[in-house]
Amino acid sequence: MKQLRNTVIRTGLEVLSRSGVHHLLRPIFAGVGAIFMLHHVRPGRDAEFQPNRHLEVEPEFLRATLRHLRENDIDLVTMDEVHARLSQRNFTRRFASFTFDDGYRDNRDYALPVMREFDAPMTVYVASDFAEGRGKLWWIALERVIATASAIEIPIGGNTTPLDTSTAPTKQAAFDRVHDWLRALPGEPDQEREISALCARHGVDEAAIARELCLSWDELKPFADDALVTIGAHTVSHCNLARQSQATASLEIATSRARIENALQGPVLHFCYPYGDRRAAGPREFTAAGAAGYKTAVTTRPGMIYPESAEHLTALQRVSLNGNYQDVRILPVLTSGTATAMWNGFRRIDAA
Ligand SMILES: [Zn+2]
Repeated sequence: MKQLRNTVIRTGLEVLSRSGVHHLLRPIFAGVGAIFMLHHVRPGRDAEFQPNRHLEVEPEFLRATLRHLRENDIDLVTMDEVHARLSQRNFTRRFASFTFDDGYRDNRDYALPVMREFDAPMTVYVASDFAEGRGKLWWIALERVIATASAIEIPIGGNTTPLDTSTAPTKQAAFDRVHDWLRALPGEPDQEREISALCARHGVDEAAIARELCLSWDELKPFADDALVTIGAHTVSHCNLARQSQATASLEIATSRARIENALQGPVLHFCYPYGDRRAAGPREFTAAGAAGYKTAVTTRPGMIYPESAEHLTALQRVSLNGNYQDVRILPVLTSGTATAMWNGFRRIDAA
């Protein structure tokens, strides 16, 4: 199903691009700016089974995006500047801000050199457990289990359910099924237990993934000192905040900031909700982020920045640079706001 959905979206973006309808909709949906959302930036891999591919773009696509924005005379700004322009209602020039979730080492090795070519600032949202090398990146653990196994078993509804994972298509189908099953379990401890069991059965070292992929505190310190880099917070444990008690959610939001400030000896003023969709961040979390003192907080809800976004500084929408659609022809569609407006049912602000 995900493959089909990707194909439909890609086709839609291409049709939009060819139709030119985004030129007509630009004045309504282009807004005053955009916050781009990325995760990994690294060279592509050949493997056919890449269920997390939407979370990575190649350096060349990042470069093409930055070039497109520069050619269109769009300012490339920090999240501090996004906050300033919204607060001061300064919309004389359109702007774009680049944000990277989770704190991956490839952000330093591949993204920063490209950002530097364009003198473009970047904000990297760090989950403090990942920087400490003990967080759980369960979506990657699941990918690795299924990549190595030719069959797996999961206890759906208490019944042991065998899933074929012997070919790329069946691996993808199994990943989608397990992913949806995990996200629907009653609590995050249930999800962690099931992933750990799968990893143990299939010899995947779950604990090593954060150390392998994420910047440690020692690496973050010089990275954060780069003039182009801002470090933001992304909770302690990368939990789904909406599924926590109010007290735990507030603690995750506040403690991640304290840990990063302590480790890097600098202020942390910007926040990013893990998962960030409507099931992971809502009005309760938006209020909590404001109460914790953050100047801005970003979601994964799709959308551009509009003057009215100033009323929702802890519920800012973003535009995903998605690894499944790395085609320079869609860039004018993305920056026109038409694609995200379509996903939003032609609403400009989605902060309820
Ligand atoms: Zn994240």
